[in-house]
Amino acid sequence: MSHHTHLPIDALSVRGQKVLDLVPFRQRAVDGAVLLSNDFGDHLFLENDEYQAVLKGDVANDSPIRTKLKANNFLARELDKDAITARLQEKYRFLRAGPSLHIFVVTLRCNHTCQYCHASRARMDAPDVDMSIETAERCVDFAFETTSPSLTIEFQGGEPLANWPVVEHIIEYARQKNALAGKSLMFALVTNLSLMDEEKLAYLIDRRVQICTSLDGPADLHDGQRIWKDGKSHDTTVDWIRRINQHYVDAGMDPHLYHIEALPTITKLTLERGNELVEHYANLGCKSIFLRNLDPFGWGAAVKTRLGYTMPDFLAFYRKTFEHIVEMNRNGQDMVERTAALLFSKILGNQEPNYLDIRSPCGAGIGQLAYGHDGRLFTCDEGRMVDRSGDDCFAIGQVDKDRYRDVISGPTVRSMVLASTLEAQPGCANCVYKPWCGVCPVHNYCEQGSIHGRMADSTYCQKHMGIFDFLMERVHRADPFEMALFQRWATPRGQPHYVHEAESL
Ligand code: SF4
Ligand code: SF4
Repeated sequence: MSHHTHLPIDALSVRGQKVLDLVPFRQRAVDGAVLLSNDFGDHLFLENDEYQAVLKGDVANDSPIRTKLKANNFLARELDKDAITARLQEKYRFLRAGPSLHIFVVTLRCNHTCQYCHASRARMDAPDVDMSIETAERCVDFAFETTSPSLTIEFQGGEPLANWPVVEHIIEYARQKNALAGKSLMFALVTNLSLMDEEKLAYLIDRRVQICTSLDGPADLHDGQRIWKDGKSHDTTVDWIRRINQHYVDAGMDPHLYHIEALPTITKLTLERGNELVEHYANLGCKSIFLRNLDPFGWGAAVKTRLGYTMPDFLAFYRKTFEHIVEMNRNGQDMVERTAALLFSKILGNQEPNYLDIRSPCGAGIGQLAYGHDGRLFTCDEGRMVDRSGDDCFAIGQVDKDRYRDVISGPTVRSMVLASTLEAQPGCANCVYKPWCGVCPVHNYCEQGSIHGRMADSTYCQKHMGIFDFLMERVHRADPFEMALFQRWATPRGQPHYVHEAESL
C-alpha cells in the first residue's frame, strides 16, 4: 500500500528530535479546516494552525491536539490494536462471505415505456423473454451454491409481475431448498405496481417479500417520464403505496422500518423540483428518499438532451434538497436521505453497510450475481444492462452449464475485484475519502472504455467527491440538532421481519 501524499511524519523531527509517530493518513481542505482520515476509517478535523503544528511535529505531550490524534487512532504507538483488528475484521467481513444478492430477471416484458429505461425492456407481446420454470429452478439452485450465509433473491425485469407464476414458483422452491440449506433468506420485488392485485399482494405479504417501486414525483413529472399508455401510472403507484404502507401499520409494525421502498429517478426535469419531490414522498407516509443520480449511458441524443444533466447540476440539486430534508426534520417531519445515511453509517457509525456499489472491492461477482431470463449469468445488474446493449463483456456463465466455483473465480470476476479495489486505483489510493468510497468498473467501462478508471475525469468520482465534500462540510458545521440527526441516520436498524430462517414448511 502506498501513501504518497502524506509526509513520512515519523521521520520528521524538530531540532533532530523525533516527536510524533502517526499512522498513514490522507488529508483534504474542507470547510476551512483540514480533514484527515486513516485506513481504519477514523477521521479528524484540524484547524490550519493545528495541522501545521502536526506537520512540524510541534505538539506537546499535554496538547489537546495530541489528545484528538490519540482519540481517533492517529498515533501509531498508542493504538488499541485488538480493537482495531476487530473493527477491520468486521468492516471486511463481506470478503469471507460470497455473493448474497441474486438478481433474477424473470422477464424482459413491461407495460411501461419509461423514457430512461433503454435496453432492458421488451413489449408485452414479445416472445421468448420470460424465464421458464426450469430455468428458474436452475437459477435458484445456482444461487444456493453461494458460500454466503445470507441470500437475497431480488425480482427484476422488465416488470416481474408480468411473469407472476414464475415469481411464485421461485419463492416456494427457494423456501423448500432453504429447509435444508438453512440460510438467512430474503425476497425483494422491484415492481411498477401496475399489475398488482389483491391476491398477489396477499401472497407477497404472507411470504414477507420486501416490495420496492419507482415514484418520480407528482403526477405530471412521474407520468411524463414513466409512460404507461393503458393506465395512469402515478395514481396507480400512489394508490398501492398507500395500501401497502397501511398494511404494515395495521399489522402493528414500525413504519420507519417496514414500508414499501419507493425510489425516484432524478432527471433534468426533477432538478428544479427537489422540495416538491420530497414533500410528495412525505405525504405518502414514506420516511426516506434516495437521491441517486441517473447515469445516461446508452441513451439516444434526444433523450439525453431532454433528461440528462451534468454532475455539477446534480450536486447542486443534492445539496439544496438535502438542506430541505434537514429543515423538514427540524419541523418534526421524519425523513432520511439514504445516500447520506449510507455514508454517515461508514463515517460516523463505523459500520460497513455492505452497499455493493460503494464498497472496496465492489460487489461484482463477489457480492452479487445477476441472472438473465435465459439463465445467463452476469457480474451484476449493470453488467447485464451492458449486455442488453450488445456487449457481453460482463457475462460470466450460464446456470445450466457452468459450475459455481468456476464462475466466481473466473477471469472476469477477478478483474472486477482488482478494478474496484481502491488501494490499486491511482487517485483513490491517496484520497481522504478512500476508507468509505468505492468505484464502479462497469461505469468506468461505459464512460472511459476500460474497467480501470481514470478518477481525474470520472463522473463517478466527481459525484462521490462532491457528496463527501458536502457531507463532511455539513458535519464540520453541524449544530447540535443536525449532529444528532446525522448520528441517527448513521445507525441503521435491521428488518428481521423479512428474513426467512430455515423454517418448517
Ligand atoms: S461493477 Fe459497478 S454496478 Fe456492478 S457491482 Fe460493481 S459497483 Fe456495482
Ligand atoms: S472515487 Fe474519487 S472520491 Fe472516491 S476514493 Fe476515489 S478519488 Fe476519492
